[in-house]
Amino acid sequence: MTDIAAPASGLIRPDKDRFLSEDNPFEAMMQRFDHAAQLLNLDPGLYKILRNPEKQIIVSIPVLRDSGQVEVYTGYRVLYNTSRGPAKGGIRFDLNVTLEEVKALAAWMTWKCAVVNIPFGGAKGGVVCDPGTMSMAELERVTRRYTSGIIETLGPDSDVPAPDVNTNERIMAWIMDTYSMHKRHTVTAVVTGKPVEMGGSLGRREATGRGCMFVTREALARIGLPMQQARVAVQGFGNVGSLAADFLAKEGATIVAVSDKSGGLVNPKGLDVADLLAWAQEHRQLAGYPRAERVSNEELLTIDCDVLLPAALENVITSKNARKIKAKVICEGANGPTTAGADKILEEKGVFVIPDILANAGGVTVSYFEWVQDRGGYFWDEDTVNKRLEAIVTRSFREVVGLSERHKVNTRIAAYMLAIDRVATMHRLRGMYA
Ligand code: NAD
Repeated sequence: MTDIAAPASGLIRPDKDRFLSEDNPFEAMMQRFDHAAQLLNLDPGLYKILRNPEKQIIVSIPVLRDSGQVEVYTGYRVLYNTSRGPAKGGIRFDLNVTLEEVKALAAWMTWKCAVVNIPFGGAKGGVVCDPGTMSMAELERVTRRYTSGIIETLGPDSDVPAPDVNTNERIMAWIMDTYSMHKRHTVTAVVTGKPVEMGGSLGRREATGRGCMFVTREALARIGLPMQQARVAVQGFGNVGSLAADFLAKEGATIVAVSDKSGGLVNPKGLDVADLLAWAQEHRQLAGYPRAERVSNEELLTIDCDVLLPAALENVITSKNARKIKAKVICEGANGPTTAGADKILEEKGVFVIPDILANAGGVTVSYFEWVQDRGGYFWDEDTVNKRLEAIVTRSFREVVGLSERHKVNTRIAAYMLAIDRVATMHRLRGMYA
């Protein structure tokens, strides 16, 4: 822990009233940040620096629709902090994208990269659009025009996007191509989450779910519950949830409930995850699966289980349902599934929470491996990727738990303390350019 001067308490959150409600994502992040900053005795100057995004870009994206009409979309890219290295963070295409949300997600990425100690800062981007109503050609035009709008910030040494909500490998390939055409040479390391054929990393698709499995295994060992006796409920059966369920089942856990947008399934004796994966692949949803009872998404959260793995949405564990949760361990596969109000209740109940910035950091860790491989021009086999992921994630878990025990704080605040301290240390060592 670095020795940082005591804050003048009056300086903490001078503009708190500017922030809206508890489920405002930036507010949720700032509440945890403030708590950790106070415990760290963060210098007031550093506090001011770390609570403000470094750069916020807003672009208008004129695009020709297939109908011949022009539409203008709004795009954002926020670089929250780049003191530790190039900004890293996904790009989402969604009607609900707001600057406030992009700022919060960019800050989260800063802390997430610092928790696992990879040399990246944090960023996030988004375009306010409904990709469900767009043709492939329109999606490509939006992607390329947005990329050219933010091209000055992009680059392997400055800002490296990745997929997020409603964006995928295909879109990363278009960003890489647009950037490379401007640079007049191929630059694979400008994005991660690319197709493996064009410089993506083996193991990237599975990395977040695999990371969830590693940290759950560590948490179960801490509470003395063997994996073979652990009953797990998973909310969300997409990339993170379905793969986490699969990895945990392969480790010997019993998956008692899963859900997606179409509803939930339960079997206290255990669901056949391979069979569920095949069903979801064929039917694109869990609804209709015949070999389990149905359960609502709300019920799933409070079902009788040992591990709850929210891997779908923000703000699903709140002060309203936290008391009813029976799980001993919560592994936050999703970003921001637990509100700050619920944190306190879970702590009182003695639930072991593996916070999102640690639990789902497997994805950005293998993105880092992808960037390293692209820059080195030398690619690793999948086993090497998975072993290096396991080493980083389990080491980070132990660092967070060690800090939580030493400072007698919950694991989320310990993760923030670890992250903020690492970013603050970099600022202190670098000094201030004036
Ligand atoms: P995804 O789109 O592949 O899957 C989301 C799943 O959630 C789907 O099964 C969907 O049906 C389900 N869902 C949606 N609404 C629901 C509801 N109301 N109740 C229950 N389930 C619902 O997304 P993903 O990549 O798996 O991401 C899930 C979460 O994990 C997000 O919060 C994301 O930000 C976070 N995350 C993802 C990664 C990654 O590498 N994919 C990395 C870090 C964090």
